[in-house]
Amino acid sequence: MQIQASLKEILTGKTTDVYFIRAQEILKSENKNPEVTAEIWTKNLPENYKWGIFAGLEEALFLFKDLNVDIWALPEGSIFYHREPVLTIKGKYLDFATLETPLLGYICQASGISTKAARCKVAAKDRKILSFGARRMHPSLTPLIDRYAYLGGVDGVSAVLSGERLNIKPQGTIPHSVIIILGDTVKGAKAYDKATTEEIPRIILVDTFSDEKVETLRVAKALGKKLDAVRIDTPSSRRGSLLEIARELREELDLHNYKNVGIFASGGLNEYNIVNLNQWVDGYGIGTCLSNATTINFSLDIVEIEGKPITKKGKTSGMKMVFECTRCGMRKITINKDTINKCECGNPMKSLTQKIIEKGRAIKEPETINDIRKRVLTEINYLDV
Ligand SMILES: [Zn+2]
Repeated sequence: MQIQASLKEILTGKTTDVYFIRAQEILKSENKNPEVTAEIWTKNLPENYKWGIFAGLEEALFLFKDLNVDIWALPEGSIFYHREPVLTIKGKYLDFATLETPLLGYICQASGISTKAARCKVAAKDRKILSFGARRMHPSLTPLIDRYAYLGGVDGVSAVLSGERLNIKPQGTIPHSVIIILGDTVKGAKAYDKATTEEIPRIILVDTFSDEKVETLRVAKALGKKLDAVRIDTPSSRRGSLLEIARELREELDLHNYKNVGIFASGGLNEYNIVNLNQWVDGYGIGTCLSNATTINFSLDIVEIEGKPITKKGKTSGMKMVFECTRCGMRKITINKDTINKCECGNPMKSLTQKIIEKGRAIKEPETINDIRKRVLTEINYLDV
């Protein structure tokens, strides 16, 4: 049984809210189909975020592939702030009215996941973070969640299909089940070492049966120099403080001359608790917080009809563009296609808003996911959570 919508159903407007069908019927009966300019923006970012990462553009543009519209957007993976337009469409209203629901769906969820991933990456600084979130959402969404987590800056993904789609090797350690079945952490560690090819890092779970510190030292002794890291995924009911467990492990490992053995943590991690763990932990598996990332509340509003500024209350009419200073990074939103050439600091400003579709034809080549991700990683270097 397939419950999720097929691509064909999405493209033919079947996932739209019915009120857009009503809007079509009403406007047709009134013989009205003006050229409108409509923009996607958000009044507020979730959880007091200061910034977001715009994602889902390339996927969403598929909706418009045979339509005679013009589209402007920030490049996929751009940092955006509240009130900045991320995408603007100009065309006959009835040509795209029913696409509003799927368009927002593509962009709101993708941007929510990429933003959360970027926030976790900022919090983790130079430590590695992996996306472990596949199990928390419908499996048909697995490659989607991992694509946008990767775009937002995670260093790797755990799901096999996601790895194939991103052309990267999926990463992971071993599940508790192996150690439970073999009956002992050291037996599990040795079996893992025996069965796994050399290039796979030896990261061993140390929280299955006994105390993490005791197990860590047993595993370190058993694998010696081969041990790359230990992983703690202690259940919250037994955890007390993951920070204290990590500190104890680090201190004992150092004391026993296992300074090169890293600590990898997973289980209920997010950008807020990662910040504190950084002093003891070398890498993170992040699951629910990525797959369950709060979506960005983007909305689409008409801001011009037949070139004349008009909109609903709570918004400013007229087409807007986002400009950024090439030196100090100051941003400005211009209204009504105004351009700004110079920043207050005296340096040139450039438009981040770019025309990408003209009369239904793509006029810009899409970037590869690796290029987008590289840009995200460079830009978030200057931000904090
Ligand atoms: Zn400036």
